[in-house]
Amino acid sequence: MNSQIIVIFGASGDLTKRKLMPSLYWLYKHNRLNASFALLGIGRTPYTDETYREFIEKQLPLFAAPTELDAISVSNFLQHIFYYSMDPADKEAYAELKARLKMLDQQISNPGNYLYYLATPPSLYGVIPKYLQNVGLNIEIGEQTRRIIVEKPFGYHLSSAQELNYIYNSVFREDQIYRIDHFLGKETVQNILALRFANGIFEPLWNRNYIDHVEVTAVENLGIEERGGFYDKSGALRDMVQNHLIQLVALTAMEPPALFNADSFRNEVVKVYQALKPLTNEQIKSQVIRGQYTTAHSEAHIIKGYREEKNVDPLSRTETFVATKLYIDNWRWGGVPFFIRTGKQMPTKVTEIIIHFKPTPHSLFKGMAGNSSLNSMIIRIQPNEGIVLKFGLKVPGSNFEIKQVSMDFTYDRLGGSPVGDAYAKLLEDCMLGESTLFTRSDAVEASWKYFDPILALWENDPCMPLYGYPAGTWGPLEADNIMGTDYAWTNPCKN
Ligand code: NAP
Repeated sequence: MNSQIIVIFGASGDLTKRKLMPSLYWLYKHNRLNASFALLGIGRTPYTDETYREFIEKQLPLFAAPTELDAISVSNFLQHIFYYSMDPADKEAYAELKARLKMLDQQISNPGNYLYYLATPPSLYGVIPKYLQNVGLNIEIGEQTRRIIVEKPFGYHLSSAQELNYIYNSVFREDQIYRIDHFLGKETVQNILALRFANGIFEPLWNRNYIDHVEVTAVENLGIEERGGFYDKSGALRDMVQNHLIQLVALTAMEPPALFNADSFRNEVVKVYQALKPLTNEQIKSQVIRGQYTTAHSEAHIIKGYREEKNVDPLSRTETFVATKLYIDNWRWGGVPFFIRTGKQMPTKVTEIIIHFKPTPHSLFKGMAGNSSLNSMIIRIQPNEGIVLKFGLKVPGSNFEIKQVSMDFTYDRLGGSPVGDAYAKLLEDCMLGESTLFTRSDAVEASWKYFDPILALWENDPCMPLYGYPAGTWGPLEADNIMGTDYAWTNPCKN
């Protein structure tokens, strides 16, 4: 890895302390960073290098894995951290930022390689690249690298995503832009690709001839915690579905890329989004169920309803749950329903994909219930990462009574080299110029194109239903209706 300065805008914020610093520390401790790397934190908070180091020193033990922390490594890591106090919204401040970076270049013998990380409120995502451009901080001279990572949400709807793409593409080349989706940094998500494309046994079955339907579930047993202000303006569809869940659908449904490189991989992802069958307004009404958690009373305690949460409008119509059915109109998937759902304050925390295979054409044995299938594959993203394959076998001694059994594989049995969390993987990839796991501009827009009409209808039609569900349950009962009589959600998923 070459030497570089990581410039974090929003360095005093939540993401920096909870995710970025622990991940960078992990990379440092495992010798994955260049020996002379530097990190320059940017924010309006008036830290000095020293007081910012003290702040990080206090925060690291709260968020880094305790087994990774040791006093010498932390102390050495802190020596690579610097801080520059400025308002990222102040155009005039960037000339001085450039001078500060030049000084730092000299101090650590860096040839002007910079990686900008935008961890600010999204309102600054369109401003910072333009101000960097004003002072030439986007331009690579010779072998220099200038890259930019931008956090989610990338746009608030299709038009704002297009606007942002326009700004980014006029300041940086596409290969300098890294739109981060931390789901793709998870080992188990990447393993979907290995499972599908490193094996010859599954792919022949991976299509409409053998797969009946697919479920993608990403739910949490927590509420919105301290994020009320942010979440109330965003909602589950923007926060989870438009990016994370649809990525999981893409990895499950995509064609094998011709080569394993960024462009081939991302071409196939975009094709899945382009094949999503658009919904009419009537279908949005009946097939996209949104819900909001309500107060739940149990003997032990009361769980607050969404509208009672801090910084949430008491009349809020923001959804904390979405369940929907979508179709991918192509030769592989025509007619196969993909059921996806996400929600807060659900009974458990789990993210998984379930591939339900079609039943046998004829039930030969007694005990095989009607035409229901015994075959499914569960790809568990979290927790207990692994794969479960379900099939029917004869119960010993019985008269050909068939019972469903599971073959259960957990990823921790694989061993391998230590891995940091998703942010460590993605930060390292970006520093190496590897963009496969980052979202390309056309993918962002293709995804928004599908979801935009849903948000528009919710926002413009006050009669669009928002269903309540008591905290701690599996969402509104109306979510079952989109399954029809042929299917049912798999609850809980870790069985
Ligand atoms: P945050 O704590 O609200 O803000 C980060 C920093 O931005 C603040 O410490 C503040 O630093 C600066 N800032 C705030 N308002 C500003 C303004 N009006 N003008 C200039 N600077 C301002 O946000 P965060 O939770 O760290 O998230 C950062 C970004 O990452 C967000 O866009 C969020 O959507 C995304 N994200 C966050 C998480 C997470 O777990 N937190 C996860 C995924 C994505 P100063 O006051 O020092 O300037």
